Amino acid sequence: MSGIKPSRRWQPAFYPFKKEPFGRRLLAKVEICVKGPLFGCRMCGNCLLQETAFICPMECPKGMRNGPCGGITPGKNCYVDETRKCIWYAIFKRAHKTGREETLLEVLPPLDWNKVGTETWGDVVRQIGKVGSGKFISGIFSGDKQSKTETWNSVFKTIRQPDWWNGDSEYHPPVPGDPVSDLERRLRSGEFVIATEVTPSLGAGTEKLKNDIETVKPYVTAINFTDSSSARPKMSSIGCCKVAIDNNTEPVFQIAARDTTRAGLQSTILGLNAIGIKNVLCVSGDNPVIGASPVSNMNMLDIDSVQMLWIVRKMKDEGVYLDGRNFKNKPELFLGAATSPFASDPCLQAIKDQKKINAGAQFFQTNLIFDPEKLDLWLEQLDKRNVLNKVYILVGVAPLKNLKIAWYLHTKVPGVSLPEKILKRMENAGESASEEGVQIALEVIDSVKRKQGINGIHIMTLSWESIVERLVTESGLRR
Ligand code: SF4
Repeated sequence: MSGIKPSRRWQPAFYPFKKEPFGRRLLAKVEICVKGPLFGCRMCGNCLLQETAFICPMECPKGMRNGPCGGITPGKNCYVDETRKCIWYAIFKRAHKTGREETLLEVLPPLDWNKVGTETWGDVVRQIGKVGSGKFISGIFSGDKQSKTETWNSVFKTIRQPDWWNGDSEYHPPVPGDPVSDLERRLRSGEFVIATEVTPSLGAGTEKLKNDIETVKPYVTAINFTDSSSARPKMSSIGCCKVAIDNNTEPVFQIAARDTTRAGLQSTILGLNAIGIKNVLCVSGDNPVIGASPVSNMNMLDIDSVQMLWIVRKMKDEGVYLDGRNFKNKPELFLGAATSPFASDPCLQAIKDQKKINAGAQFFQTNLIFDPEKLDLWLEQLDKRNVLNKVYILVGVAPLKNLKIAWYLHTKVPGVSLPEKILKRMENAGESASEEGVQIALEVIDSVKRKQGINGIHIMTLSWESIVERLVTESGLRR
């Protein structure tokens, strides 16, 4: 159990895959004996404690290395294991208290699994040797803050940011050029855009899928296809996108980190233009804990959503693979991310969102919003961070068909909570609950369309595709 780390459980440390020489094994044992109790270290071999307020983020079951997922519970616990605090919330709290919030902005690399379970102190000693031990000691103990930071970074940043990653806290604007999709073109022109989603087929047939696409197509700019939402298998997003394209409709291809490896991501990205996909939305994906039984591995992502954005941006803008190889014919993509404005503290969400924008997100689709007034707090935080003008924001809106769905969203869907007054309205509506749900959605649309910084809506139909026409028409958004 960790001494100064505010979490209930310290997960077991990793072991190396290969047998290490005796000296390194011994050093690794000493390292875990010290860093384990002090920081909750799991011996990931790719240490980044200096950037995470000296709390090991590897305790997060998803292995998120760049901030929290969108699923923190209202009590700030982890939705994968509700009996413990979200480790990223703990990191944020400590960083906030010590005035080191801005350090959380650095885009951190995925694990190099060759190093997992091995010691990192040897790397530190070698790097101090390269810098010069005298220079290191005098820099660290100098009274000058800048020289202290530079000396510290000359050792620790070099270790946590290997050459194949070189992450930073800077904004990397997209390469200037014409819009690559209709969605991007309309957003750039200042149009208030409507996107929606169509539920992927549960079997291999495409008849219902095609009908649903036809139902919503006249009213929206683009249709999203989720990647096994709620961790339940359905037709793949790529298959649904192909059906949409064949039916002259622009899709948004969603890809979840949950089922994606770094090699798989890069191969998939290179194949998208070949079938006409131009819009990509990178999401962490719901954890298997809320999915179908038997539950698959709940414990670790190969890459998180920020890392996905960083990798895809470098592919589309610079034509490089993660391993540094260059390639010709860069994919043309409009790159998006999901955000969950109310998942935790708006300050923490804004840090995570700025990180996604810096990493490459050009547009956001938010989680479902039922309390639009609360959005102002989050928008203010983004504005303070000077990123509101660097991303297009589509607000997630859903028509509630009945009280059961309202309660399901409120209690089971990570990052979504319905205000008491909405639940009461749905309850009081009785037989007319679906009409009440439509009125609630229209009120949300009416409120968000007047907000500065909001560029459109994303209607999550919850399998009620036929309602899109009414929502678009009655909200006055029909073109
Ligand atoms: S809520 Fe998300 S980020 Fe926080 S510990 Fe759980 S899985 Fe990790």
